[in-house]
Amino acid sequence: MLSFEVFPPKEEAAFEPVEAAAFEIAKLSPAFMSVTYGAGGGTSKYTVEIAADLKEKFGVTSLAHLTCVASSREHVHRVVERLKEHEICNIMALRGDIPKDGVIHHDYKYASELIAELKTLGDFCIGGACYPEGHVESATKAEDILHLKEKVNAGCDFLTTQMFFDNDLLYNFLYQIREKGITVPVVAGIMPVTNAKQMKRILSMSGAYIPSKFRAIVDKFGDNPAAMRQAGVAYATDQIVDLIANGVNAIHVYSMNKPDVAAQIKSSLSEIIV
Ligand code: FAD
Repeated sequence: MLSFEVFPPKEEAAFEPVEAAAFEIAKLSPAFMSVTYGAGGGTSKYTVEIAADLKEKFGVTSLAHLTCVASSREHVHRVVERLKEHEICNIMALRGDIPKDGVIHHDYKYASELIAELKTLGDFCIGGACYPEGHVESATKAEDILHLKEKVNAGCDFLTTQMFFDNDLLYNFLYQIREKGITVPVVAGIMPVTNAKQMKRILSMSGAYIPSKFRAIVDKFGDNPAAMRQAGVAYATDQIVDLIANGVNAIHVYSMNKPDVAAQIKSSLSEIIV
């Protein structure tokens, strides 16, 4: 099962090109498409609009992200009402990052609170985020998995992972969470890194482990955009092939509003994911 993610624009002026990119990706007939949610909730109307258009114009199952830590309960309920109006029943329920200015509403502290509340607001299929390398704020992976279990118990129907660049991290994580009794399906999130700048951002934001095999690619091709793009897509595709060979069948590609990258990955897997 192959699915793709898009992110909404920050402002109205960029809406059309972003929606056009989302539509191009929709033409690839993914299992579903997710639409992220701007950290502070300011772009929520675009998330709902794009998720609704994907569903209504392309018949693609859409998964709308929703964050809570920087929003009031009233705002969250308004967004949920809009999702219901469009009959969008799949929600990726997140806490969101703590805003840099530190301004947070105190209606929700953790994603688990949002998830429990969504359960009372409608018949939603609810996803939660998980972190094969542990969430950056957690002192240990074990502690993060403990909180993950609470989150799943609050009502997660499935989990999607943070990006990772070494599949062994995922295999180890799956073993650990299954051992702790977390049995919901886990969708593997794969990020095709197509330029060196993106790699620097990933490192500073997520602290993801970068295997030496991938560092060598960035060192060799980082200054050559076309070669870096090709090598980044090949690396992501290779990761996906290995995941599927090892029984991880749900793959979510962080396609970053790039239809060409999504199309290339899909076509490279044409006989593998049918
Ligand atoms: P939580 O599950 O609430 O966890 C946050 C931290 O709190 C973790 O360290 C956890 O271990 C800890 N914790 C949880 N419960 C407790 C407790 N009871 N006591 C003490 N500690 C606890 N961000 C966006 O802004 N928009 C998006 O659209 C978006 N989409 C994402 C999609 C995926 C698949 C992933 C992996 C991340 C996404 N993010 C998005 C980023 C996400 O918002 C951040 O990683 C955020 O910092 C954590 O969100 P969460 O929902 O995982 O939080």
